[in-house]
Amino acid sequence: MRRVIIAGNWKMYKTISEAIPLVTLLKRSVYKEENIDIVVCPPFTALGEVNEVLSGSNIMLGAQNVYWESQGAYTGEISPLMLKEVGCKFVIVGHSERRNYFNETNEMVNKKAKAVLAAGLSPIVCVGERLDEREAGRTFEVVKDHIENSLAGLGKQEILRTVIAYEPVWAIGTGRTATPEQAQEVHGFIRHFLEERYDKDTARAVRIQYGGSVKPDNIASLIIKEDIDGALVGGASLDAEKFSQIIKSVQGGMR
Ligand code: PEP
Repeated sequence: MRRVIIAGNWKMYKTISEAIPLVTLLKRSVYKEENIDIVVCPPFTALGEVNEVLSGSNIMLGAQNVYWESQGAYTGEISPLMLKEVGCKFVIVGHSERRNYFNETNEMVNKKAKAVLAAGLSPIVCVGERLDEREAGRTFEVVKDHIENSLAGLGKQEILRTVIAYEPVWAIGTGRTATPEQAQEVHGFIRHFLEERYDKDTARAVRIQYGGSVKPDNIASLIIKEDIDGALVGGASLDAEKFSQIIKSVQGGMR
């Protein structure tokens, strides 16, 4: 059984003073939603304060990035242990914005995912093709390359603690969502890959989120697909009303 997981990626939005009212509102509107995992991923600077507001609530804290070493002379970087100490349970790794603007490779994503797991946290590993790759008929090749290499060397227990986010780059922040059929096709492909690498039971237990312009009016049609286990939400997670509507549109938490 898989528990639905809805995560909000705030990207580089919200100062501390903007973050506090947002999570305060969100906490009030979703406190009854006990059957799904709800995660918010604010910028590093707001993690501590947001964690205090979330204390005792049903919303978990996540970060948007991490470095793979636990400490050292790596100016500007943040370690998994630092994220754990501030209250994080999840860390997004390999988001397409990091792959594209900061040259993150599958190998780097893999090191980050392993470091996150070693610290006892769960990585949300993002994979997905660009528009030119889809149009060239290379979607499955690109997604396979991402999952094969970003998840390389993860044991069964580790993959079970990992969340995979399929995020077609052409759907992120563009208002252009993948159709439920397009998303399901890739989610099914990822689950099949997991089955071949691990086994059927393991593949069935790993959660695969969809991300790319998820909004209150399209979540219901995506979440009914058999291999879509939740959503990674960017823009709509910056609005407490929209994000809570997305959460409430997910009927029943188990898949
Ligand atoms: C994201 O940032 O992961 C994302 C999916 O953004 P948006 O929902 O704005 O497309």
